Amino acid sequence: MKTQKQILAEINCIAEQYPNASVALHFDTVFQLVIAVALSAQTTDESVNRVTPALFAAYPTPAKLAQAPLEDVENKIRTIGLYRNKAKNIIACSQKIMTDFNGEVPHTRKELESLPGVGRKTASVVLSVGFNIPAFAVDTHIERISKRLQWVPQKATVRQVEDKITKVVPEDRWNHLHHQLIFFGRYFCTAKKPHCAECPLLEECSFGPRYLKEH
Ligand code: SF4
Repeated sequence: MKTQKQILAEINCIAEQYPNASVALHFDTVFQLVIAVALSAQTTDESVNRVTPALFAAYPTPAKLAQAPLEDVENKIRTIGLYRNKAKNIIACSQKIMTDFNGEVPHTRKELESLPGVGRKTASVVLSVGFNIPAFAVDTHIERISKRLQWVPQKATVRQVEDKITKVVPEDRWNHLHHQLIFFGRYFCTAKKPHCAECPLLEECSFGPRYLKEH
């Protein structure tokens, strides 16, 4: 396993490549951010961005979405994975925001995680992107990079990845770093065709040399 110093150097190397990385989901309000992030579980941000314009045009606020007919919400989001469950959750989430939080998205982790369909990752994105409160969300890209570069053991949980990165990197960098690592995973160290031959971290990587030998 690598030292904290080595991990930080590798993280900095990645971060330098994506100085302008930012959230890819489209939204106008923090409420819409909550819904967009909840919809993005196990699907791409692009597919979420394709359904949210019609959804938010019809139901722009928690008050509106709380009263939406389930079938109509399902129809509006049916092209994304797990749409039935997500439709149910985003309506229930809106209802809870109305009944328990006066129609305002709460800004503590505990309150956010009490909303239906909102887990630790969604809460972290809402805290950091919506409220600019330091939080570090680990998605599938960040988990993959962390394991390929052996920042954590291969069997590490998502929470262990989060704990490792937040220990190594100062808190004031967490919010931006989340997007920088995602960009690296989405466009360079991709799941199926990583650009290992051009990667500045090839010598530090356990996966890259093996991948190049086989392809
Ligand atoms: Fe990713 Fe390949 Fe670079 Fe390793 S060498 S970090 S697998 S792109």
